[in-house]
Parts: sequence; structure tokens; C-alpha cells
Amino acid sequence: MQQAQYQLIIVGAGPAGLTAGLYAARGRLKVLLIEKGATGGQVLVTDWVDNYPGFVEGVSGFDLMDKMTAHADRFGLEKKFATITSLDLTGDIKSVTLENGEVLTARTIILCTGAKPRKLDISGEYEFSGRGVSYCATCDGPFYRNQEIAVVGGGNTAIQDALHLTKFASKVTVIHRRGELRATKVLQEKAFCNQKIDFLWNTQVMEIRGDKSGVDSLLLRHHNGDKSVLKVTGIFVLIGIAPNNEILPLEHLHTDDDGFIVTDQEMATSIPGVYAAGDLRSKRSRQIINAAGEGAVAELSIEYYLGNQAPDTPLNCSE
Ligand code: NAP
Repeated sequence: MQQAQYQLIIVGAGPAGLTAGLYAARGRLKVLLIEKGATGGQVLVTDWVDNYPGFVEGVSGFDLMDKMTAHADRFGLEKKFATITSLDLTGDIKSVTLENGEVLTARTIILCTGAKPRKLDISGEYEFSGRGVSYCATCDGPFYRNQEIAVVGGGNTAIQDALHLTKFASKVTVIHRRGELRATKVLQEKAFCNQKIDFLWNTQVMEIRGDKSGVDSLLLRHHNGDKSVLKVTGIFVLIGIAPNNEILPLEHLHTDDDGFIVTDQEMATSIPGVYAAGDLRSKRSRQIINAAGEGAVAELSIEYYLGNQAPDTPLNCSE
């Protein structure tokens, strides 16, 4: 059989990719992790992580990902920072083509490309993006000191970030399209107790308005059909995520209706030798701990798939 350069290529370096990389490097597989940006993924822009086991006092998203990267590095994980343009996943040998034309091959692949914020797709959203419209509270919160702003959404991200934004803004109005939140009860309780947070229930944003200096108001529609205008200088759109699946050969991969990759419980996709882990997977719970756990499961599945091959590098008995 034709030889592949690697036993495993991991695509994406969030918690799933870094954990798979740590396991594979520690397991002495010939492994390469490819990432187009910095290691860490979406967690890098998460202000504070309070529920990752072992960090008793909590940890900033940046620090947690820095530690995960350092942990994989300790086992010598080979990393390449490059943009992938296409993936050929169907044969026994998988190939990954980079923007510079370089082609890398592997027996197995773990897809860990994660997800990105969903858009409202309304008038003014694109026009004012970066000038009052934001998708990242950690990144942009400090720009709204003593200002009145809005958060759209009712999930964990919206409520957690609304709480974070009260550190800067004078008032945060959470606009939710239904009458109850999807966020966990713990977050709901905190938000309901926060004097700076107001809720607008059963309400949708129809239009984002402003002028040369940025956003100045939102046109809202309430459940009874009434419309109103809310004066704010910023709007954080936190309405969930969409999969980063653009480079994937979706004609060969089983996905759900939203384009997330369907796997079995061992993280195997519909293509033999191809696994997926983290937010890219079709699932209900998207936590850092899930992503990391799935990265570990995917890598262990690959060790099984590859068979009990001798590690690529012999053990140095003096180590
Ligand atoms: P999510 O749980 O899918 O919530 C999305 C929210 O946006 C929902 O309230 C939804 O309303 C609303 N929404 C969706 N499309 C909308 C539209 N077009 N217009 C108005 N509102 C819209 O997404 P998420 O909050 O980003 O969380 C994603 C995943 O990460 C979840 O699994 C979450 O648990 C996890 N997460 C966990 C933590 C944590 O544990 N600390 C923090 C952040 C995120 P409906 O409720 O009406 O559908």
C-alpha cells in the first residue's frame, strides 16, 4: 500500500484538537496538527471559564488554552500553521491540500474545526459590524464603558456574556425571541439578580440603525406585532453557532440539518478513518470539557483503527 506521511492529521487546534494531539503525541503516533490561526479556538475569546475541572478558582479562556497547548507541546506535538483549501478523505490514504499547494497525507484524520457565531441576517448587521455590532463580548466589551447596549439571544453564551458586559456598560438589555431562556438556571439566577440587566421577552430585532459614528438604535418587533425603537450604542449578537464546515467534502460526510458532522459514540464519521470531535459535531452539549473528552475518544478510536502498530518513534529507554 502507498505510504502516508502521517498516521494522523488533526485539523483544528481548539480543546478537541489539542487534546487529540496530546494523546496522539504521547502515544507516539506520527501526528500533525494543522491550524489556520492561533491554537485555542473559540475559547480564546471566552472571558472566564468557571466549570473546567481542576481549576478551582476558574481560569481565563486564554490561560486555559495556553496550558492545553503547552501540555501537547510537552509531548512534542508537531504543529503546522496553515490554511487548508481542500480535503480528500475517501481513500485509504487521506490528503490535505494547503493554500500554498503543499499536499500532506495521513492514514486517519480528526476534524476539529469547531463553529462560528450565527448572524441575525438583518438590515444594518453587516454595515455596522465592528462599529456597534459585535459577536464577542470578551473582545469588545471594554469599548462600551458607561453605555447602554443590547444582547440578543437566550442561551448560555448570551446570558454569560450579558453578565460580563455589566462590568463595562451602564445597562444591558437582553432581547430574547421567546418568553423563557435556554441558559442554565445558575446563569439565569445571576442575570435576574443583576440590577444592570433588563429583559425584553418575545421580541425580535428587525433592523440595526445608526450613522457614520456607529449604531444608535434598534428597531424591535414584539410578540403582539407592535414595533418600538430601543436606543443603544452597541448590540452583541449571541444567538448560537454554525459549523466551520466550508473546507469539508460534505457530499461524503453525514451531517445534520444545520451542517454539523454526525458521528457514532467513538467519534467516527461516515467515512472510514475520519473522525470528528468538538463543536463541529452534531450534539446537544457544547462545553470545553466535552470537546476535550471527544478529542481523547477520537484519538483512542484511531489507535484502535490503525491496529496495534508499533509506535512511529522507538522508546528511548534512558528517558
Ligand atoms: P444556543 O444554546 O444555541 O442558544 C442560542 C440562543 O439564541 C437561543 O436562545 C435561541 O433562541 C436564540 N436564537 C437563535 N437564533 C436566533 C435568531 N435568528 N434570532 C433571535 N434569537 C435567536 O447557543 P449558545 O448560547 O451560543 O451556546 C452554544 C453552546 O455552547 C451550547 O451548547 C451552550 O450550552 C454552550 N455554552 C456553554 C457555556 C458554559 O457552560 N458556561 C457558555 C457558553 C456556551 P431559542 O431559545 O428561542 O431557540
